[in-house]
Amino acid sequence: MHALVAMPRALVIGGSLGGLLAANALRAAGWDVDVFERSVGELSGRGGGIVLQADVLQAFQFAGLVHDPVPGVRSIDRIYLSASDRVLQRSPMPQAQTSWNVLYRILRDGLPPERLHGGASFTSYEQDGQRVTAHFADGRSEAGDLLVGADGARSTVRAQMLPGLEPAYAGYVAWRGSVPEALLPAALRQKLDASFVFQQGDAHLLLAYLVPGDDGSVEDGRRRWNWIWYRRVGAGGPLAALLTGRDGRTHTASLPPGEVREEHVAALLGDAVGLAAPSFRTLLEATAAPFVQAIVDLQTPAMLDRRVLLLGDAAFVPRPHAADSTAKAAADALTLAMLLRQRAAAPDVGLAQWEQLRLTAGHGMAISGIELGDRIMGLTRT
Ligand SMILES: Cc1cc2nc3c(=O)[nH]c(=O)nc-3n(C[C@H](O)[C@H](O)[C@H](O)COP(=O)(O)OP(=O)(O)OC[C@H]3O[C@@H](n4cnc5c(N)ncnc54)[C@H](O)[C@@H]3O)c2cc1C
Repeated sequence: MHALVAMPRALVIGGSLGGLLAANALRAAGWDVDVFERSVGELSGRGGGIVLQADVLQAFQFAGLVHDPVPGVRSIDRIYLSASDRVLQRSPMPQAQTSWNVLYRILRDGLPPERLHGGASFTSYEQDGQRVTAHFADGRSEAGDLLVGADGARSTVRAQMLPGLEPAYAGYVAWRGSVPEALLPAALRQKLDASFVFQQGDAHLLLAYLVPGDDGSVEDGRRRWNWIWYRRVGAGGPLAALLTGRDGRTHTASLPPGEVREEHVAALLGDAVGLAAPSFRTLLEATAAPFVQAIVDLQTPAMLDRRVLLLGDAAFVPRPHAADSTAKAAADALTLAMLLRQRAAAPDVGLAQWEQLRLTAGHGMAISGIELGDRIMGLTRT
């Protein structure tokens, strides 16, 4: 077993939430960390609302990120609307929602800018004893003691570690959008305020909740309503048609805001007339650029190959209904940093323990998510 004597170095592949959570936590545990992200410049406009889970707050606390509290909008209950907009059920459920952008900004600000390398597209790794070398598309190579594959559901790190393991389409998509609350009628704002709102339809589900505004503000009038509409779309041709953007290119997983073809947005709004409660219809119609994401399943049988590991969506993509993807990435990162700090004299022991713990957690989330998602969407597996 090889102890780490000098300050050990971690190479983090992927500069989204998973990678930045890992980088901040590992630095707090005494590691020298560099993050390599394929995209150039800052990532932005990704995603929307994120339910603020305890794992995220714990990871922030461990990393010493001074944001107390993390900007979030509180909701006090869950309401279920009928198709005619009647409140069918109201259950107390205090929680807070933040946004992808808010978390990204805090995590990025936690790292020295010179440790964030944009435009660095990882291609492969090789290992020699306890050293790992990462190679990049521009010909550069970097060596370290640990390589963290936080490069998402279509991970290149995973493709080398576990060839052939790919996300599988779950049979439905998430249409998403967000609207500044100031654009909504006062009566609607009053009706929905401080609630997490659902409408369970026949094989479809709508939900909406408040998140901070684009600038992170949580004051009344400056927040955004974030909505999601889960809808079934057939695999193959129908999904490919939906994910073919305005430039004619067919994407595999999602289309960003502004890229969805006009006819698909028009069809969505048309369907909303018959299916969505009036409150949801107002939200959809006020949205400038709805976007769409295919819901996929991914479960890895292994997260560790000696000094190379998979974290966040690169390892497991759970269904989004429990809103725990970001929390899972945070727990991956926090557990890793804590075990490596505890096992500084025997990091390979810490890594093996980490893999056992996080594999168990990942499979648990994935399995319960599939069960829940299939039930919500009226899907049966053969
Ligand atoms: C478009 C989008 C919207 C989302 N919205 C929400 C949301 O609203 N709520 C929520 O809870 N979760 C959301 N998620 C999921 C959530 O962001 C993730 O669960 C969380 O960020 C952890 O994911 P990750 O960092 O592991 O992977 P990702 O967020 O997918 O990030 C992977 C990163 O790796 C980079 N990368 C990929 N390949 C390479 C390579 N070869 N070399 C270098 N870099 C590479 C990518 O550019 C990307 O920045 C969203 C994810 C995406 C992609």
